[in-house]
Amino acid sequence: MNAPKTFNLAEEMQEQLPADLLDFIKQAGEAAQKRQQRLYLVGGVVRDLLLERKIVDLDIVVEGDAIRLAREMARRYKAKITVHSRFGTANLLWGKRSVDFTTARAETYEKPGALPAVKPGTISDDLARRDFSVNAMAIELNPPHFGELIDPHTGRRDLKKQAIRVLHDNSFIDDATRIWRAVRYEQRLGFRIILATTRLLKRDIDYLSTVSGDRIRHELELVLEEEEPENILKRAGKLGVLKELHPSLKGDDWLAETFALARERCLPDEPHPHLYLALLAYRLTATETEQLIRYLRLTKTTAQLVRDTSAIKEKIRELSAPGLAPSTVYEYLHGYSLTALTANALGAASATAAEHIDLYLNVLRHVNPALSGDDLIKLGVPQGPKIKEVLQALRAARLDGLLDSKEEEVEMVREWGKNPP
Ligand code: ATP
Repeated sequence: MNAPKTFNLAEEMQEQLPADLLDFIKQAGEAAQKRQQRLYLVGGVVRDLLLERKIVDLDIVVEGDAIRLAREMARRYKAKITVHSRFGTANLLWGKRSVDFTTARAETYEKPGALPAVKPGTISDDLARRDFSVNAMAIELNPPHFGELIDPHTGRRDLKKQAIRVLHDNSFIDDATRIWRAVRYEQRLGFRIILATTRLLKRDIDYLSTVSGDRIRHELELVLEEEEPENILKRAGKLGVLKELHPSLKGDDWLAETFALARERCLPDEPHPHLYLALLAYRLTATETEQLIRYLRLTKTTAQLVRDTSAIKEKIRELSAPGLAPSTVYEYLHGYSLTALTANALGAASATAAEHIDLYLNVLRHVNPALSGDDLIKLGVPQGPKIKEVLQALRAARLDGLLDSKEEEVEMVREWGKNPP
């Protein structure tokens, strides 16, 4: 490893880290020093410190046993600790803070796409296994060297050049999820994947097929949690990455506009990533939707949401008819997940259909009869399926404005008594 000129970030840490986190890492550094261990801040937090971006969570790497040190810090901070002994990692949670402790490790990739073989290593091994130079820096936390930047892969220079660069030519072959990560960081940070890395990315795109659907899904989730996922999907489209998810997916202007509308609609909150997912899958056919669900191994609930979205889309023609009775709109739309309905309100080509869906979401779905099943039994409706039918008929009558009080419902049930709906 070339020894670069020492560059100290203690001042930046003082200015940018919340006081409690600064206190935490100083104490951790002292505790590690006593144990004769070396301790480092690593990864995204170093990158974000240098970029003066907001820092939320910390990643700490320990040369040696991370778990024992993590336990000591958990005691001091009365933090909740979760230990994964197999991986030599521990997570500390207290208040809104989350800190990960990891044992420095060296990795070797035996087969593309498979998880690497891992053994304990030095900080320099640990940085060498990382995805991009801008993520492969560390800051030492032991008191004599507190704040010193360790930057063996010239990440700081790449930050200045706003460049995303892999550390070696086989990086995407070892782990093709890095292809998605490259595009994600590029778009999040407003950087550029440098030419040599772009060439490797294009050369190795086929290796995405060596990665499990679970890992691809995880990367897609990370994409959809970003502030403007459409930029990542658009760039992934241009690079030929998106079609690896499914050949019919498009990262085009429609997607960009619809995602932007989703953000406006959800204000003051951010759209849930599931809403973005439903919109991304919106233009797939029912068969293609099933292929995507299978490939990404979506959970039951998420798969249902995507299926619901597709099923509602099949009804858009009917929902486009002007002047539908509210009870008919209700009939078409009840039972589907709210996110799937919202995706259709945003994605439907017909303004009338979108209005009908909004009417359902804002008003119709909240309409219920005043009478309960018990009330109906008291009124002489026979127990069994009839009860549900009468309740549905009462709701439909309410929806269409044929009655609006409990008394009128009673009257209607009595009339139906002789001639039920
Ligand atoms: P952010 O949380 O801001 O997205 P992060 O850098 O903390 O960024 P994580 O996904 O939590 O992102 O990963 C932590 C660090 O682990 C990264 O900075 C990177 O150095 C490394 N890393 C994560 N995934 C990979 C990967 N597939 N290959 C190599 N290194 C990785």
